[in-house]
Amino acid sequence: MKQHTTQIELIPIARDIVIDHIPQFVVVIDARDLIIDANEVAEHWAGLPKAEMIGKDPLHIFTKWSQFLNRLLVTEETREEVTLAGEPTRIVELMVIPIKNKSDGTLSGRVVVAHDITERKQSENDLTDMNEILWGKIEEVELLRAQLQEQAIRDPLTGLFNRRFFSESLEKETAQALRDNSTLSIIILDIDHFKQVNDQYGHKLGDLALQQLAKLLTDNIRSGDIACRFGGEEFVILMPNATTESAFERAEFLRKQFEGMIIKFENKKLTCTFSAGVASFPTHADSGESVLNLADTALYQSKSNGRNKVTIFK
Ligand code: GH3
Ligand code: MG
Ligand code: MG
Repeated sequence: MKQHTTQIELIPIARDIVIDHIPQFVVVIDARDLIIDANEVAEHWAGLPKAEMIGKDPLHIFTKWSQFLNRLLVTEETREEVTLAGEPTRIVELMVIPIKNKSDGTLSGRVVVAHDITERKQSENDLTDMNEILWGKIEEVELLRAQLQEQAIRDPLTGLFNRRFFSESLEKETAQALRDNSTLSIIILDIDHFKQVNDQYGHKLGDLALQQLAKLLTDNIRSGDIACRFGGEEFVILMPNATTESAFERAEFLRKQFEGMIIKFENKKLTCTFSAGVASFPTHADSGESVLNLADTALYQSKSNGRNKVTIFK
């Protein structure tokens, strides 16, 4: 019996202690919206002792926090974040819990619990900002990596694949041609008297000629073909699944197009030609490297036969 009484007495004392010591703001208002209880944090927020708050309208107590009070007075039950104007602004998590009359369910009061979450929000925002920055950096790194990868296989002046990429592709494509029992053809081409072009018109116009030829090649090859700048004014086109004849026709088409192209820079104009050689795998040799050499031999036949020509290796 004694123990029972002690327990009954203990509960409200314990509740009072908890309410006074929790770091949340706790205020109880009655059905007329007048304060009937307040804890230590509420006293601190109000700058008033509890005794001076009891029976008062919270509007007159927490005058600085109009937004907070507006929410409190229009909301029977809520849990939300409220931003309190001021310097600095504070963010408060507000909870309004209605106390209902047990017999008829009418509102007999409300408990208002509020918790300053400014620091937590700030940390969350900092984390979000940091996350965004990190994602941005990851994207930047990925972009750079892709650019580097691209740069490693491209010639910077013309944007065509470089010689290294050509060598790798040649190996892969000859292996594929063997598996498919298909023909792979190579066109190698070299601009005629390009040294004279540079000497006469300047390096800038020479560069432009290289770029225009590169564009002509990329615009006129099939999607599986690989156009490369092999070196200086020398280009190679790797054509998987292409017979010697079709490679020759393509080279002839390109030769005529290039011959008719006028390259302009400032008030200078020039026309250029190229010579080409064609050879195929496995038609002419049993390795990609050998076929490339044979195409080169054919190119030099074009050169010695007067240039602006395409020759098939024989
Ligand atoms: P051929 O008809 O026998 O091929 O004669 P060519 O003058 O074209 O051959 P040569 O190998 O003697 O000269 C190649 C010239 O290509 C020399 C060099 O000035 C020029 N060249 C190489 N790379 C570049 C480049 O990136 N830009 C420019 N503008 N010229 C280049
Ligand atoms: Mg040349
Ligand atoms: Mg050359």
